[in-house]
Formats: sequence, C-alpha cells, structure tokens
Amino acid sequence: TNFKDLGLNEALLRAVADMGFETPSEVQEKTIPILLSKETDMVSLAQTGTGKTAAFGFPLIQKINASSRTTQGLILSPTRELCLQITNELKNYSKYVSGLNIVAIYGGASINDQARDIKRGAQIIVATPGRMKDMISRGMIDISKIEYCILDEADEMLNMGFYEDITDILSHSPKDKSTWLFSATMPKEVSNIAKKFMNTPVEITV
Ligand code: AMP
Repeated sequence: TNFKDLGLNEALLRAVADMGFETPSEVQEKTIPILLSKETDMVSLAQTGTGKTAAFGFPLIQKINASSRTTQGLILSPTRELCLQITNELKNYSKYVSGLNIVAIYGGASINDQARDIKRGAQIIVATPGRMKDMISRGMIDISKIEYCILDEADEMLNMGFYEDITDILSHSPKDKSTWLFSATMPKEVSNIAKKFMNTPVEITV
C-alpha cells in the first residue's frame, strides 16, 4: 500500500514526498482510509513513534475547509512539548494547503499572544487542556463549530489529572462532531472517557 491508495489528496502527497515517507505505517494504514471515507468516532491503541500524528493529522488536514476561517479541528495533548511537536508536524504536512492556520495553545507562555494568533483565524488548534479551558472561559476561543476533536495520548492526559478540564472543554463543543482518541494503554479511565464522549467508535489496535 502507498499513501495514494489510502486516499490522500495531491497537496498531502507532495508533502509526504518532501518528507521522504515511503510507505504508510501500520496505524496510518488502518486509520486514514476510514477517517477519510466517513464521519466516525475512533479509538486507536497506538504507542508514540508509530506515526500516529500523521494517522490523525493527514485525514484532519484533508477534511478541513481552509477557505473558511472557522475553527474546525481541536487536538488536545498532555504537554507543551507534545503540543508544539504536533503543531510543527501538522504545519509540515500542510505546507501545500494555502490558507490553513494551525495554532498552538499551551500554558507558560503569553495568553494575549495566543489570543491574538487565534483572532487571525485558526482552523486547527493544538492545545494542552489547562490553557485551553482558561481561554474558552475567557471568551478568547470559540469551539462551538468544531467538527473534529482528537484526544492524543489520552492515558497520559488522564494520568496528569486533566479529566475535569477535558470534560469542561468538550462541553463547549458540538455534540455532532467526530472524536478520535489515541492512547498507548486502555485503562478503565480511558474507556470511560470513550463511553462518555463517543458514539460506537471504530476500534483500531497496532
Ligand atoms: P509519531 O509516532 O507521530 O510521533 O511519529 C514518529 C516519527 O515517524 C515522526 O518523526 C514522523 O515524522 C515519522 N513518520 C511518521 N509516519 C511515517 C512514515 N509513514 N514513514 C516514515 N516516517 C514516518
């Protein structure tokens, strides 16, 4: 299988070629065709280093309408480092998609600078839960129209005590979005989140 067979568009295929990715990883092979072909919730059991960022990033980028400035996708991740890493990867993947703005939101940096970036229009937000919740409650971020929500390293987020923040954030999002959850492990807390926030998710294990 190659990336074209998975259904990626020309803009993504050009970026994939630039990055030197030759064949899709296992998690990419399993998730990308499903996420591209239908609106569905998904639970994916995948470790770091398996290529999971592209597994959700490619379909997300392809599905976003870059000519609208509305925030359409939200990715929640446990740490500032991971948040910045995902943001950089997604910017790389989408280098041939014009008009797409991806903004990183995390604690320990100027909230006003981040609010200014959001104001310019961010179709995709990559955030840590604490700062995200704060900016929503201050009216700096509106996620009432998101269509895609990705919970990355869900087990880590819950280990770090972000359950309440995640619940609060998701309460500001529409019910009829697609939620894609990625986790290295599947403890009860993670399956509870999946039960609470997802609708008969497709399950993937790598
Ligand atoms: P991740 O698991 O998303 O953190 O990705 C791990 C590393 O693998 C990152 O540096 C990616 O850029 C790289 N990567 C992801 N998918 C592929 C692929 N299909 N072929 C080669 N490298 C990849």
